[in-house]
Amino acid sequence: MAVFAQAGDKIVIAHRAASGYLMEHNLPSVALAVAMGSDYIEQDLVMTKDDQVIVLHDPTLDRVTNVAELFPGRNREDGKFYALDFTLAEIKQLHLKEPYPNSGRFPDTNKNLQLTVPTFREELELIRGLEKTMRRDIGIYPEIKQPWLHRKEGKDISRAVLKILREYGFKSKEDKIYLQCFDPDELKRIHDELMPGLQMELKLIQLIDDNNGHETKSLQWGEWVNYNYDWINSKSGLRTLSASVSGIGMDKSMLVDGAGNLLRPELISDAHSLGMVVHAYTFRREKESLPSYAASFEALLELFYFKVGVDGVFTDYCGDAVHFLQKRSPGPAPVPVSSETLPPQPTVVPEPPQPPSVPLAAPVAVPGVAPASAPVPTAEPVANPPATVIPPEPAQRAIPHPAPAPVPGSEPAIPAAPAPESAVTPAQAQPSNPVPAPLETKYR
Ligand code: CA
Repeated sequence: MAVFAQAGDKIVIAHRAASGYLMEHNLPSVALAVAMGSDYIEQDLVMTKDDQVIVLHDPTLDRVTNVAELFPGRNREDGKFYALDFTLAEIKQLHLKEPYPNSGRFPDTNKNLQLTVPTFREELELIRGLEKTMRRDIGIYPEIKQPWLHRKEGKDISRAVLKILREYGFKSKEDKIYLQCFDPDELKRIHDELMPGLQMELKLIQLIDDNNGHETKSLQWGEWVNYNYDWINSKSGLRTLSASVSGIGMDKSMLVDGAGNLLRPELISDAHSLGMVVHAYTFRREKESLPSYAASFEALLELFYFKVGVDGVFTDYCGDAVHFLQKRSPGPAPVPVSSETLPPQPTVVPEPPQPPSVPLAAPVAVPGVAPASAPVPTAEPVANPPATVIPPEPAQRAIPHPAPAPVPGSEPAIPAAPAPESAVTPAQAQPSNPVPAPLETKYR
C-alpha cells in the first residue's frame, strides 16, 4: 500500500510538510506529505514565551498568521511579532494563512478552514500514529532555528528539542531522523555535550549558508556578526565537519550556476568519501521559482538527483518529487523504467530471432518529463502578477568558496540593528530588545 518507492537511495524531504499543496507547517499538511510518500517531513522549530517548542519557520508570526489582527500592539520595535513574546495558548488562537495564495497555492481562506500552528509534540504524535496505521517508518527532519536568538532570550532550544525527541524514541543513528541546523558551533555542542548527556546519538546535518546570510550570528567584540562558512568549503574543513555530522545541506545555487553548470563537482564525491550525505534546497515547481536552465520541475530534479548527484532534496512539492523518483530508475542516464515508458514494441516476427534491436536507445520518454497521470495538481503561476508572489530564488550566489558571494537585492530588506555595547546575557535580555535581524523572510 505504501507509495514511497524511490530511485536507489535518493530521498524526498517534504519542505515545511506539504507546503506547496496545503500551506506550510500544520497537521493536515504533515498527513498529506506522509500520504504522498515523502521519506522525511521537515519541521522548523522555534520556542514560545512559555518555553514550548512549536513548528514555525520564522521566529516571527507575521508572515503566516493573523497575529497582527488579533494582538495589535504586541510587536517589537522592528514591527514584528515574535513567537518568543507569546504563550502557546495565545499562539493557538492564531489562524494560519497561505503566504502566497495567488501563486497557484492553497486559496487564501480564513473563514471556515482554520489551521493552527502545531507544537513539535503534536506533530511527532501524529507521525508516530501514522507510522502505526500505515505500517511504515516515516522520517523526520527537524531544524533548530537560530539558537543564537533563543540564547539571547535565555532559552536553550537545542536542549528542549533533544528532550522532546528522546520522549518519542529518537535516540540513535539508526533512527529515521536528521537533525539540522545552520549553526556549526551549536551542532558541535549538540554532538559533544548535549547528546552524550542525554544518551543520544542522532544523525546531524550541517546547513551551509552564504556568508551574507543571517541564519547564524555570534557576538564578537560586542557586535553580532554573521557566521563565516568559508572553512567548511575546503576538503580539510569538510573532513573536520565529518567528525560530528552525517551530512550537509545547501542551497542548490551553491552547486549549479545560473547557466546550469556544476560549480563544485568534487563536493559530492568528497562528502560521500567521508561518509556524508548531501541534501539540497529548495525545489519548487512554480515557473518563477525554476532556474532558467531548467525547463521543468522534473528536469530540475533530474539534474540534481542524477547529474549533480545529491542524495536528497527539500521540496515544497513532495508528491511530485516522489512520483518523479518512482518513475525514474537509479543510474547515470535516463533509461526506460517500465513498460509505460518503452517505445511501442514491434510486432514479433516468427522468422529468425532478431538481434536485440528493439530501439531501446531510440528517443524514449524521459522520466524527467511530467507524466500526464501525475497524482497531484501542478501549480502554475497565474497570468496576472499576484499581489504576493513567491520570492524568486536568489539570482546566482556563486561559489561560496573562496569568496563570499553578495546577497542579491531580491531579498527583502533586513533592518540593521544597533550592535549591543556589550555581551547580552540571558538575564539582561529583554523582550523589547531589538534583535539583529527579523529573519522571517529568509526563504529556506
Ligand atoms: Ca528549514
